[in-house]
Amino acid sequence: MKLATVGSVAFDAIETPFGKTDKIVGGAGTYIALASSFFVKEQSLISVVGEDFPQDVLAELSSKGVDINGVEVKQGEKTFFWSGRYHNDLNTRDTLVTELNVLADFKPVVPVNAQNASFLMLGNLSPDVQLSVIQQMKQRPQLIAMDTMNFWMDIALDSLKETLKHIDVLIINDEEARQLSGVYSLRKAAKIIREMGPSILIIKKGEHGALLFHEQHIFYAPALPLEEVFDPTGAGDTFAGGFMGYLAAAERIDFDNMKRAIIAGSALASFCVEKFGTQRLKEITMADIQARMQEFVSLSTFQL
Ligand code: AMP
Repeated sequence: MKLATVGSVAFDAIETPFGKTDKIVGGAGTYIALASSFFVKEQSLISVVGEDFPQDVLAELSSKGVDINGVEVKQGEKTFFWSGRYHNDLNTRDTLVTELNVLADFKPVVPVNAQNASFLMLGNLSPDVQLSVIQQMKQRPQLIAMDTMNFWMDIALDSLKETLKHIDVLIINDEEARQLSGVYSLRKAAKIIREMGPSILIIKKGEHGALLFHEQHIFYAPALPLEEVFDPTGAGDTFAGGFMGYLAAAERIDFDNMKRAIIAGSALASFCVEKFGTQRLKEITMADIQARMQEFVSLSTFQL
């Protein structure tokens, strides 16, 4: 197994200035697996859903090469539900509802065939849950990446710091990097955060792209200036999925390949925001992704 991912599989209800949805399928694990499935044909998703979750959605993931044996279906219980409303700038949102349901006491079990995955992606969950997944791996994966959020810094900072000691790549946004490090300068923040454990740090800056800190190098990937952003939900997870999927497929984690992986993640995220939920990710093809990655080259290449 090349890639294993732990992350939420959820129902979301989203409101943007352009419209609103009823309950649609979302969750960090869903976005990560869908995005990485363009690059890796063999991966495992570890998650939990209730008996209300549609079987055909899991079957669809399965058809894209996602092994769903690690997705526990809890009879008599309800799937995690999240609802959010975006402000007019689409950069900020309010969480309206979080019903943890099956996520409340989620104890992920890594299936045997995923315990030797060479790439491990830890979606945004409690740092204790993330650590428990690392501890179930038979051998140390070649690369462990992790997402987290302000919420865990507020309520579980000690656990978060412990988990950070065991990972290679932390993927967070600028606000979270500032909170975790306690400093404003992202360059200083990167130094402080990398001393906590992850040797590689990716700081996402929403519509302003992403920064990669790797050894003594920094790489900046712009975000594609889109005419319209429809729904930003899942863009961060899609970015992470594209990044890890690209690396897992290439099986190379040198700086040059990480740069390409960041562009792959950015290209996928740029599609994700064009429609509600996971809809756009289901429409696009590998050729669309390659064309968009090429746009990034044109956007940011110049000669001195
Ligand atoms: P993002 O827009 O990248 O922050 O990710 C949004 C996704 O994260 C949605 O599809 C939600 O279902 C999921 N999500 C929101 N809150 C949580 C949470 N507390 N734990 C796990 N997943 C969550």
